[in-house]
Amino acid sequence: MSFSSLGLIEPLLRTLDSLDYHTPTPVQRAAIPPVLKGRDLMAAAQTGTGKTAGFALPLLQRLTLEGPRVAPNSVRALVLVPTRELAEQVQQSFLAYGRDLPLRSYAVYGGVSLNPQMMALRKGVDVLVATPGRLLDLYRQNAVKFGQLQALVLDEADRMLDLGFARELDELFAALPTRRQTLLFSATFSDAIRQMAGELLRDPARVEVSPRNAAASSVRQWLIPVDKKRKAELFLHLLSAHGWPQVLVFAKTRKGTDALVEELQQQGVASESIHGDKPQPSRLRALERFKAGELRVLVATDVAARGLDIHDLPCVVNLDLPTVAEDYVHRIGRTGRAGATGEAISLVAADEVELLAAIETLIGKTLRREEEPGFVPDHRVPETAPGGVVLKKPKKPKQKTVPGAGKGKIHLGNWFEEGEKPNVKTVRKAPGFGNKPRKG
Ligand code: AMP
Repeated sequence: MSFSSLGLIEPLLRTLDSLDYHTPTPVQRAAIPPVLKGRDLMAAAQTGTGKTAGFALPLLQRLTLEGPRVAPNSVRALVLVPTRELAEQVQQSFLAYGRDLPLRSYAVYGGVSLNPQMMALRKGVDVLVATPGRLLDLYRQNAVKFGQLQALVLDEADRMLDLGFARELDELFAALPTRRQTLLFSATFSDAIRQMAGELLRDPARVEVSPRNAAASSVRQWLIPVDKKRKAELFLHLLSAHGWPQVLVFAKTRKGTDALVEELQQQGVASESIHGDKPQPSRLRALERFKAGELRVLVATDVAARGLDIHDLPCVVNLDLPTVAEDYVHRIGRTGRAGATGEAISLVAADEVELLAAIETLIGKTLRREEEPGFVPDHRVPETAPGGVVLKKPKKPKQKTVPGAGKGKIHLGNWFEEGEKPNVKTVRKAPGFGNKPRKG
């Protein structure tokens, strides 16, 4: 199948050809025709599936062929995204795909000054890519008007709710014309997302390109149990033992990302961190350097990492497990993309067992464990399986609680016979869903 059979116009086809896009991806095949016809769309698609072109191409075409010229301070298509990085990336895609079309696009996000954005909006833009908080600021200052709005895209809608943008989104939705085309993209479909879709979409075409909440199957995933205080040391050991050319590392905290980068730099490994405390230009610069191959290791928090578009990354390492299980799927989606295989390795300490169980429940499988010689932990990571922590009886069960329970160790509650195959139905349900992530 070719792009021309999807009904795209000549200037777009020429551009796609020059970008070496010869075959539409599944989400593009499914999304482009209904969006060209003006239908609403509800799409379950992760980053890496080609979803951006799935909405950008048909919207660019509709904006070119239909509707009036954009008026001052007005917007004809609005794309809401959760993070600054994703805003930049989506805007770059609109620029690339629309380079032969007479349309203007622009991105606005927080963390940089408001004035240049207000100036840029004065002439009006055909496509505005925005994070919800900054867009609301601009709207309240009358820098942007929605009277001409034809189309709204919610990109990574699940992530916008995770990041606590629900209130901003509601305020924005109330300001938009009700007669419009709405496209909703989300990697996962929680009840809150379904409710949002129910309220915003009218008879949407539905697209699902990956099974619900499934992690990319081309990624080999496993975990290495390790004591918390030895994680950085283990990472350095793995980096030299495996000789990974490039690794994306996820850490839970800003402090953790900076500490690892400091250690790596001391060892002469070109590395940088990106997290919410860093000014936007330096985050973008770090990302560009990583993409250009100037950095071997990029250490990121979840918020900073969500929109990263990096091809053929062989390896993702979770220095810490994410506090929200869905983020695991997003993290490992950075590798094994576009048909390449990748590795995703999680360094797991005993106090992360509940997070691990939540992840395994979400992805529906137990992550393989591989102990690293020399790093076998003093604090054992309890067994897990989809459904929760597997509760095992120790060899000499003299007491009803784990030795040390109440002194900071994990209380295991019920018991299984050693060696007994865990019955998933009887294990404790994993907590961790619906937790609010920290803003990184
Ligand atoms: P996305 O899921 O939108 O982040 O896209 C993932 C990557 O795939 C982006 O770098 C796109 O440039 C690339 N891409 C999207 N569609 C195609 C296509 N049909 N052929 C080749 N590459 C594509």
